[in-house]
Amino acid sequence: MDVSVFSTKPYDRRFLDAANARLSQPHRLAYLEVGLNAETVLLAQGSQAVCVFVNDVLDAGVLERLAAAGIQLVALRSAGFNNVDLAAAKRHGITVARVPGYSPEAVAEHTVAMMLALNRNIHRAYARVREGNFALDGLLGFDIRRRTVGIVGTGKIGVAVARIMKGFGCGIVACDPCINDECVAMGAQYVPLDELLATAQIITLHCPLTPQTHHLIDAAAIARMQRGVMLINTSRGAVVETRAIIAGLKSGAIGHLGLDVYEEEGDLFFNNLSDEVLQDDVFARLLTFPNVLITGHQAFFTLEAMTAIAEVTLKNLSSFEQSGRANYEVSIEKLA
Ligand code: NAD
Repeated sequence: MDVSVFSTKPYDRRFLDAANARLSQPHRLAYLEVGLNAETVLLAQGSQAVCVFVNDVLDAGVLERLAAAGIQLVALRSAGFNNVDLAAAKRHGITVARVPGYSPEAVAEHTVAMMLALNRNIHRAYARVREGNFALDGLLGFDIRRRTVGIVGTGKIGVAVARIMKGFGCGIVACDPCINDECVAMGAQYVPLDELLATAQIITLHCPLTPQTHHLIDAAAIARMQRGVMLINTSRGAVVETRAIIAGLKSGAIGHLGLDVYEEEGDLFFNNLSDEVLQDDVFARLLTFPNVLITGHQAFFTLEAMTAIAEVTLKNLSSFEQSGRANYEVSIEKLA
């Protein structure tokens, strides 16, 4: 199949080329560094499929033009699919496929890395020691054991976080419309969101971004949390309302914040902008807090996850080419 592969970095090419070379019928992958959006959609001309990542924009206008260019399949290299207008894809007869659960542990382990780093101020200690400052003031942490962790969304990643935090000796409260049996067996208590917010000392978000979860964590939600709570978001940026979070940090309502995702990350993440002036004042404000740790959407970025993403993406392309159906399709009907 001829595939236009958008938003590619050298590491994407490395894993996709390796997986493609293992296929008996390899695909013709045209790598493009640019993201897919209204300005770049013409670059897909001549392909039957586009392969895209988390910040590519597949709104109704882009999908209409992809259909006009003969694109039949959108192959996401991600688990999340909030950047695709599924209703428009259906209207235009475009199949959408994703890579569910390529390595929930990769994201879960990064989530816990953020918890530990924030709690023990590893990010600050690293900088201090390099400057010859060995003072401990400001580095006081707390024992994670016996703390209550609130997990919002106990799908593949949420349950992997629960497993790790159980190992730390934490209590688990969870909130999800679908109860996960493994979480229950671990002793997790399912409670309504408001109760989770009020009970947990560490809150971690693992639900998808949908109209229902957009700004799930807003000023009202923060007001229900314990003062000084630790909040971690490795799901999607817009699950939290950034301005409300900043107000929460300023007042001390939020004691630690770990973000791997950001509402407006499309203009920032995955690029080296170190020679440029940061234009996003909200993001700039976040960077000023000593108790905020931000990573640029790297929670998925492990050897195992990249290998699995490449393999499953190419299998989606192969199965679609052979049978007209991709292995892991997402559709508006499946969500209903
Ligand atoms: P999953 O589909 O296995 O689990 C998501 C869970 O969220 C489901 O159990 C679902 O019922 C639950 N949910 C839906 N709406 C909810 C709500 N309103 N409140 C509470 N729970 C709700 O997905 P997953 O593989 O665990 O991934 C979760 C999310 O993590 C993805 O949608 C994606 O946005 C994000 N993600 C981020 C990275 C990263 O690198 N930072 C990587 C992979 C996935």
